[in-house]
Amino acid sequence: MEKREQLIGRFIKIAFIVCTAAIIVYFIWGEFVYERETDLRNTQCVEYSDGWCQVMQDGSSHSIVVPGEYDAGEDNIFVARNQLPAEVDDDEWVCFRTAKQDVEIYVGDELRKTYTTEGKRPFGTFSVSMYVFVDLEPGDAGKTITYRAYSSDDSRAGIMRKVHYGDRFAIWLHLIMVSGLETVLTFFLLLVGVASVIIMGIINIRYKKNIEVQYLCWGVMLVAIWLIGRSDIRQLFFPNVTVVNSMTYFTIMIAPVPFLIYVDGIQEHRYRKKHMVAAILCLIDFAFCTVLQVTGVRDLMDMSLLIFIGIIVAFVVICVTFFQDYKAGYLKRYKLVATGFAGIIVAVLVQIIAFYNAKQVSQGAVVAIGVMFLLLMATIKSIMDLLRLERQKQEAVVASDAKAKFLASISHEIRTPINAVLGMDEMILRESTENNIIDYAYDIRNAGKTLLSLVNDVLDMSKIESGKMNIIPTEYEVYKLIDTCYNLVAINAQEKGLELEVTADESLPKVLYGDEVRIRQIISNLLTNAVKYTNEGAITFKVGFRELDTETIMLNIMVSDTGIGISKESQEILFDAFERFDDNNTRYIEGTGLGLNIVKQLIELMDGTISVHSEYGAGSVFAVFIPQKVIDSESMGAYEPEQLEDAAIYEYKEMFTAPEANVLVVDDIPMNIKVFRGLLKSTGISIDSAESGEECLKLVEKNKYDVIFLDHIMPKMDGIQVLGKMKQLKNNPNEHTPVIMLTANALSGAREEYARCGFDDYLTKPMRHTELERILLKYISDSKLFDYNSHYTIEAIESNPNIAVMKLEPTQTVKEEIRASVSEFEFLDVDLGLSYCCNDEQFYLEMVRLFAYGDKLDVMQEEYDVDDWENYRLQVHSLKSTSLTIGAVELNQHALEMENAIKQEEYLYVHRHHKELMEEYKGLINNIKRVFEGND
Ligand code: ADP
Repeated sequence: MEKREQLIGRFIKIAFIVCTAAIIVYFIWGEFVYERETDLRNTQCVEYSDGWCQVMQDGSSHSIVVPGEYDAGEDNIFVARNQLPAEVDDDEWVCFRTAKQDVEIYVGDELRKTYTTEGKRPFGTFSVSMYVFVDLEPGDAGKTITYRAYSSDDSRAGIMRKVHYGDRFAIWLHLIMVSGLETVLTFFLLLVGVASVIIMGIINIRYKKNIEVQYLCWGVMLVAIWLIGRSDIRQLFFPNVTVVNSMTYFTIMIAPVPFLIYVDGIQEHRYRKKHMVAAILCLIDFAFCTVLQVTGVRDLMDMSLLIFIGIIVAFVVICVTFFQDYKAGYLKRYKLVATGFAGIIVAVLVQIIAFYNAKQVSQGAVVAIGVMFLLLMATIKSIMDLLRLERQKQEAVVASDAKAKFLASISHEIRTPINAVLGMDEMILRESTENNIIDYAYDIRNAGKTLLSLVNDVLDMSKIESGKMNIIPTEYEVYKLIDTCYNLVAINAQEKGLELEVTADESLPKVLYGDEVRIRQIISNLLTNAVKYTNEGAITFKVGFRELDTETIMLNIMVSDTGIGISKESQEILFDAFERFDDNNTRYIEGTGLGLNIVKQLIELMDGTISVHSEYGAGSVFAVFIPQKVIDSESMGAYEPEQLEDAAIYEYKEMFTAPEANVLVVDDIPMNIKVFRGLLKSTGISIDSAESGEECLKLVEKNKYDVIFLDHIMPKMDGIQVLGKMKQLKNNPNEHTPVIMLTANALSGAREEYARCGFDDYLTKPMRHTELERILLKYISDSKLFDYNSHYTIEAIESNPNIAVMKLEPTQTVKEEIRASVSEFEFLDVDLGLSYCCNDEQFYLEMVRLFAYGDKLDVMQEEYDVDDWENYRLQVHSLKSTSLTIGAVELNQHALEMENAIKQEEYLYVHRHHKELMEEYKGLINNIKRVFEGND
């Protein structure tokens, strides 16, 4: 099929070429071989050069050669006479070309024609050169025709140019033919000039890019106007030739300016002074000549040398600087443009020689060709420059990608051992009773944490730089956000004896939609800085808002301190990377100068702003504004800071084991169960799993569990139905067992909603181990919870086959070592994925592998094909959470959109986006497989 289409395509192309060629051949053959049908070319126009004689003031006459220049006498009146032919037809004309003269033409004694622009011109003392036509009648046969010309310009008064005789149309046709090439070329040049000026203007406005060649285009446009304005047949196009004529002088006077700017640019401003002086001279010349003309002191037509002074100076400057560059070896950088200018010089020389040889009105064709040649050369140079720039940009992108990849992989490599060091150090802190050892261990902890935050900062920076930092909006509770941020710095502030005051607007909406993780990062950075750079006084943390519309607010976060402050100069570069100030005051404070740079970039990614107001020695105020969507507009209520001890205990208790505990997890997606097991592997908890409601009910009847985790959305029977059935079971050993809902859609008020259905709590998917542990700590009875380092636990764990093996070094827990490295998955948000996998790289890799090799592509396609929307929705739903678990953010987003569409029965959307989603899913799987298979 494809081959046939290819063949047809090729046939169409060949047939088109053959047909076009046949048309051209037909035209050439027909026009040149067959007899002429039109008689346009045969209409009558002859040169009327013979028989002319000049009539002197005393009445004597002598014959003259036309065209020619003769003495017009003291009164500058030139009179030439001739005898009209013995036979004159109707519609026959004599055509004279004036030369700055006012003329009167007599047939016999009758004044047939006068030409003067006096009274019609805006300014000036001469009538511009023009073709003047005299209409003849048959009765004029054999009569005399007298050409009487006057000019106040001595050099022009006695000029007699070519005279034409024939019918009017034939004369015009002849004149157009004579200057046809010039006309076509100059109009073309004008067109090119105007088009390029417009294009350059658009580029300038749209892309804020100043392309040098645009000045050349302006120059070309001016030259084209000049050439058209002085063309022989200009009276055909312009109603007022005097205006057009003076315009040619104006344009030619300022035309050198854009050329000088252009040359200055391509010479990289090495001779800026020379170019500027020449340009200013041109402008002064322009102003001076214009004033002379307008005031009537002197006519532009009479100031050739003054008018050309600017051009001559510009020409000399350009030649000199080219020569200087040639000597310094720079000329080769713009040799094309230099060749273009050489072309113009040649063209002008040819034009001048032609002008003096022909003694006729000049023809601009050669100059037009010269200018076009320059424009062509300059355009080629610009295109080559652009291509080179593009290539360099691509190389830079590749290099920066490589840098980002390197930074990402090295940061991951560093993070793993630091985590191990910090883990071991925690053990020392808990087990040791010797004060000096505890002191050392504290030092290790502080240094380790600093190192870890530095590595994280570097990772964030490289992500932002390579454009891979994704803003992942979720629904979040504002109260919780404020509380977490407060608790993050409360201890440090207290330790430094600083007061920490939090004020939050009570009417803040309860639930917002935005990237909570990044907002937390921003606030904690500002608060940490405030504590770091304040020695006494207070830190104030304020959260407020302003309504933008019914669905959006502008969240306003303000962090102020009474610390060392930031000087005015430092404030200007405060948000630049690696900038730290006030060395004497901050030398002993740990930091890298990366934090505020990241903060600013994150805020900008969220379309927000940050500003600082600081007084050196008195303190600083940082104000952040970020737009956020409102999910629940109910007021958040008054914020009461919760005390720190709880957090400390919680942190301590986080590392626990519960080998005697028994939990059940129910989820239809095997990968989620694996994640669940993985997250709890160091707790020693015994985990049973079920992949459906029925399986769950069977297990619940048989075993007693400490906690049951039940997925919400499952095929056949969903979590709520399973719970209902569980409650109806007779002899249920789990009658009082807490049941936790696992959900991917935790909307506001979810807790209340699930409580109404009989659930004790809920956990959002993908789960984070801290959240999971918090739930377990809450619901497993204290008698089953042990400290992490309890000997009893370890033994218990090792003797229990149903328990995931517990070891401190997480990578050793995976039976089969996966050889790939997380840094190879640059198409995934590895950090996000790791955060769902206890930051355990091997565990994460296992999940990624499971995602790719346990794909549901075929099933999804089948369900789509038969419009089985119920099951298709389940697949999309599970894809949404599994993709997020491995950090496939975009796929997660698209799956979410698809799920919403199915929920709202927008099947048109589903049909439009199904293929896209499948391709994205398939592409991701292939990418992942490629990495794994490349390593096997
Ligand atoms: P770090 O704190 O890691 O050095 P940051 O980017 O967070 O990096 O801050 C850059 C610099 O700005 C700091 O080194 C410090 O000199 C100054 N700075 C930041 N916050 C404050 C503050 N609240 N008070 C005084 N100086 C500050």
